Amino acid sequence: MSASIIDGKAFAAGVREKVAGHVARLREEHGIKPGLAVVLVGEDPASEVYVRNKGKQTLEAGMNSYEHKLPDTTPEADLLALVARLNADPAVHGILVQLPLPDHIDAEKVINAIEPAKDVDGFHILNVGLLGTGQKAMVPCTPLGSLMMLRDQLGSLSGLNAVVVGRSNIVGKPMAQLLLRESCTVTIAHSRTKDLADVCRGADILVAAVGRARMIPGDWIKPGATVIDVGINRIPAPEKGEGKTRLVGDVDFESAVEVAGAITPVPGGVGPMTIACLLANTVTACCRAHNLPEPEGLTA
Ligand code: NDP
Repeated sequence: MSASIIDGKAFAAGVREKVAGHVARLREEHGIKPGLAVVLVGEDPASEVYVRNKGKQTLEAGMNSYEHKLPDTTPEADLLALVARLNADPAVHGILVQLPLPDHIDAEKVINAIEPAKDVDGFHILNVGLLGTGQKAMVPCTPLGSLMMLRDQLGSLSGLNAVVVGRSNIVGKPMAQLLLRESCTVTIAHSRTKDLADVCRGADILVAAVGRARMIPGDWIKPGATVIDVGINRIPAPEKGEGKTRLVGDVDFESAVEVAGAITPVPGGVGPMTIACLLANTVTACCRAHNLPEPEGLTA
């Protein structure tokens, strides 16, 4: 048996198309143009690439993109002042402060200074609480994208056993909350979990968000399970030439694909969905700000 491959690239293109359609309607029917502000502090090369891609895709979806690049010596107070300005700016519907921040800045303080309704990353403590209590929240992008793919693949998730490996605030915990809201029976596994292989073998839905290259082999997977591999790990790829590298997930794709019912590849699975869901959250935030109906299929 060979799993069907969940094409995150194509799925993300579909989400971006829906976002662009909604943006166009907002403009035509209400004269509103959603805007996303992205703040980058410092010169981390990976963050710079993310921020550039976010800006490009925001513009392509027909929205306004506001980029704020600050030096890594920026005092915390200056960053908080910028966040306050963006909070007050009616043209800005979504605010994202790119993480990680330099050590002298308290990331939690900055995140919790963002107006919750504009917190398109869904990391503000209020949004975490709203999600945890089943209320209308801004939902973190990576878990939201993963949920969209699971719903598309499986329809109703009700009653399924879901195992989330990883308990970070940005992926594992919100993913588990979303699955619980879908009436899955949810287990959250982490580095102290005993008999992880057995725990994984009970999963109808297995979400891996660990950050360890190919740590979940095919024989940990229940036959027919749906596997969402969030991990992004760079490993040496001598077959591509000296010093070359390639990306792999937390799941050993080659063995897992023989057992699973459906699986996301790395790259080309969850990754492309994250920015697409950032755009979706920005449109949602804009609609909520203007008391307009939320875009269908783009929220949790
Ligand atoms: P964190 O490092 O914050 O969390 C990793 C989690 O994995 C922790 O809860 C940790 O447990 C657990 N863990 C570590 N080792 C083991 C182990 N041997 N067995 C079981 N659990 C273990 O990572 P993130 O959640 O931020 O990211 C996870 C992965 O997802 C990374 O590869 C990251 O690059 C990727 N990612 C991908 C995104 C995308 O867009 N596709 C977006 C965000 C992340 P404990 O809490 O006990 O330490």
